[in-house]
Amino acid sequence: MTQVLLPDPRPREKPTRPATRRGKSYFIRTFGCQMNEHDSERIAGLFELDGMSRTDGFASADVVYVNTCTIRENADNRMYGNLGQLKAYKDENPDMLLVVGGCAAQKDREMIRERAPWVDVVMGTHNLDRVLDLIDHAEEWGPITEVVDELQAMPSSLPVRRELEHSAWVTIQVGCNNTCTFCIVPSVRGVEVSRRPGNIVREVERLAADGVVEVTLLGQNVDTYGRDLAIDGKRRPIFGDLLRRVGEIDGISRVRFTSPHPNDFREDVAMAMAETEAVCEQLHFPLQSGSDRILAAMHRGYNRKKYMDRLAMARETIPGLAVSTDIIVGFPGESDEDFELTMEVVEEARFDQAFMFIFSPRPETRAAEMVDQFVPDEVIQRRFDRLVEVQNRISGELNQTSIGSRLEVLVEGPSRKNPEVATTRSRTGKVVHVDGQYAPGKLMEVDIVDAAMHYLTGVPL
Ligand code: SF4
Repeated sequence: MTQVLLPDPRPREKPTRPATRRGKSYFIRTFGCQMNEHDSERIAGLFELDGMSRTDGFASADVVYVNTCTIRENADNRMYGNLGQLKAYKDENPDMLLVVGGCAAQKDREMIRERAPWVDVVMGTHNLDRVLDLIDHAEEWGPITEVVDELQAMPSSLPVRRELEHSAWVTIQVGCNNTCTFCIVPSVRGVEVSRRPGNIVREVERLAADGVVEVTLLGQNVDTYGRDLAIDGKRRPIFGDLLRRVGEIDGISRVRFTSPHPNDFREDVAMAMAETEAVCEQLHFPLQSGSDRILAAMHRGYNRKKYMDRLAMARETIPGLAVSTDIIVGFPGESDEDFELTMEVVEEARFDQAFMFIFSPRPETRAAEMVDQFVPDEVIQRRFDRLVEVQNRISGELNQTSIGSRLEVLVEGPSRKNPEVATTRSRTGKVVHVDGQYAPGKLMEVDIVDAAMHYLTGVPL
């Protein structure tokens, strides 16, 4: 794959084509990770530029976009279930246009066409900018598939319709150069391509001028940001410097990022986090397994000691750091002994939060070929239940230690379950429920008076 030139990321202020679907409505269903959520916000931006407005379900939409994920098997299954449901809507409303994009479409374009021939547009992850042209084509000429292998435009160069007005995703890098044996990302998102630091800083400045107070920098492996860029033929931008530059922008109170990689996370990034006030004390640090043998089979590039040393360095450097992680249970060949090593690390590391997954083989990955080493389902389930129980206990214990402290929280909006309560988030990424209604985007201080496993309760000062 060849290197691509990155386009000017300035959002287009005016449509480059007349809005042709004024009065029509759209609905977007997103599966998968934050990268997909970010892409969906860009697709929504393009749809609104074309005159459409958002509606709240498939049934009332003229255009439906399904943003697919292929990282986990159940996301795939849910996607095909959704496409089946959508056939019924299309039978009732044949003018509805159905677009399927995202990672599964990038990888399984033929399968989607075969299993869901009623889909109007199948498109990939690299050509989001083409969505309106492809819809035009489908309307006039019938179903179309367009999947390309090289990035056509950084998603951040496209217009956006943000889910939260005060908070924005900012892509700094797409693709990944690692070869984790369970992961499909490199084959659907391609090799790492970093965005130029000046472009990123200008985008964040515009966001701040627009009222955004929190940004999350997005990349598959942010610690290797800039390796493919050279500023003057020799030097290259590094992630720690980018954090400092973004954190200094007026109006930006909180900077987060995802995801770092334990193999590439170094002291300069930890120092930048500690020394830049706006950068939050939150680190997602994916462990995956506590067994050196399994880590090697996963091709993660670190062992348990290196992981724990880097975690200790991060905690020493960044006061008050909260750490979350990812863990896969039942990777092919995982023995009882390997699993016990993972449990030991979990007890020792005391993560604030863990995203725990049962191994699911993804076609076209090396782990999917290790069939003779697959662990029986009932064994995996037993291990998984034990892990969840231990992690829940640790999350609850750590949350209890917050009682009596004073935290700065950012209001997200009314809680979905109880509109009398506001959902807010601490700098460490914890959900804090606060009685009352407050404007989304407001920063305030609260005293923590109660704690549960997955949230805290605060009282405003
Ligand atoms: S670092 Fe590994 S798990 Fe993460 S995107 Fe790259 S290949 Fe996948």
